[in-house]
Amino acid sequence: ALSGSNAVADLDARTTELDRGHVFHSWSAQGGLALLPIAGGHGTRVWDHAGRTYLDFSSQLVNVNIGHQHPAVVAAIQEQASTLATIGPATGNLTRGVAAQRIAARAPEGFNKVFFTNGGADAVENAIRMARLHTGRDKVVSTYRSYHGNTGAAVVATGDWRRIPNEYARAHVHVFGPYLYRSEFWATTPEEECERSLRHLRRVIDCEGPASVAAILLETIPGTAGVLLPPPGYLPGVRALADEFGIMLILDEVMAGFGRTGEWFALDAYDVVPDLITFAKGVNSGYVPVGGVVISDPIARTFDDRVFPGGLTYSGHPLAAASIVAALDAMESEGIVTHAKQIGADAIGPGLAVLAEKHPVVGEVRGTGVFWAMELVADRSTREPLSAALMGRAKGELVGRGLLPFIADNRIHVVPPCVVTADEVAEALATYDEVLSLLDEEL
Ligand code: PLP
Repeated sequence: ALSGSNAVADLDARTTELDRGHVFHSWSAQGGLALLPIAGGHGTRVWDHAGRTYLDFSSQLVNVNIGHQHPAVVAAIQEQASTLATIGPATGNLTRGVAAQRIAARAPEGFNKVFFTNGGADAVENAIRMARLHTGRDKVVSTYRSYHGNTGAAVVATGDWRRIPNEYARAHVHVFGPYLYRSEFWATTPEEECERSLRHLRRVIDCEGPASVAAILLETIPGTAGVLLPPPGYLPGVRALADEFGIMLILDEVMAGFGRTGEWFALDAYDVVPDLITFAKGVNSGYVPVGGVVISDPIARTFDDRVFPGGLTYSGHPLAAASIVAALDAMESEGIVTHAKQIGADAIGPGLAVLAEKHPVVGEVRGTGVFWAMELVADRSTREPLSAALMGRAKGELVGRGLLPFIADNRIHVVPPCVVTADEVAEALATYDEVLSLLDEEL
């Protein structure tokens, strides 16, 4: 319990003290961590107890798509909590059914069932399990530049860019996906990159033995690895390859789904229908932890008279279900997905292009909707990534100017909530501009 003075500044100090003393944080050496105290938020802004506000251009972990504290979602959670706060998965629950129906309705034709999980990693775990059981095969192919979560099979699927120890590795194969700026295939055009990465995938599957491959698992747009928009023909090409060999295609939409790209599912822009879709994050903007798998009918039928050996105590939790229904309703009635597409095309994309033109430290900008990355380089001609020390400086300078950034390796990901306004974009662009000027001077 909080003790001592209630003075607001004390609450920030107390937050830091308790955090440093007792919270063990993800992805960090624990010594020397000093995390920003955040006490509240609304829309695209968050603030500490003392009232210092920050423009949230990270959407936290790229999940708060409808912005902080959307009143309809908060109210739906409160109302559900007062009716039925928890119930096990082996029950019928109306809110859960509505949530599943709404999600399936956003997926392509022929997707009718949803398996709920606690988040994104276990969605990936279960999608892999379904594909293995459906095909009777073992191997899964994913890309080196990818993030699929930090549990058993999901961390094995995650590419090597973080070099997470793969202590559970089983029947897993990595390939290079398309990434023209740092092409592994010496490609100079998107068409070449597409054609060569598909040829590489085919060759690897051929070497592995196509009849041993259960699934190809791809982020529709690899997010954490750099917002790597696939060239237009890539995903249809992967689909064709998968069909040729009876391989399941799993598209991981945990980060890209539910408005982030200006589409309900990122795959809507790519003329591809997978066999399984994983989701989490944007489905309810993280107000209650949840994720899941949208299952195509043939895979769902596999388990009509065969037990699916998997489940979680909180699968389809009523608070998560209520928050999903309210969040999806709000996205629909407020035109949030369309807004994300528009603001990306009208304000974020053009604004970042101006920054790229002006600042030598920017190697490339790419993205769509509210899903963008600025790749920073020490040298534009060699494309040598900007050093970790300078990326650390960039982070400090941005936070010091009241902007919460999402930084991964040598990139600043520009990933505000879908509801970001044109004024907020202009404010953020001015802040990035100042900090990029400081970095230019270091080159
Ligand atoms: N898949 C993708 C594409 C992700 O971006 C993430 C998280 O960033 C995950 C899976 C894992 O989700 P979670 O952190 O909810 O387990």
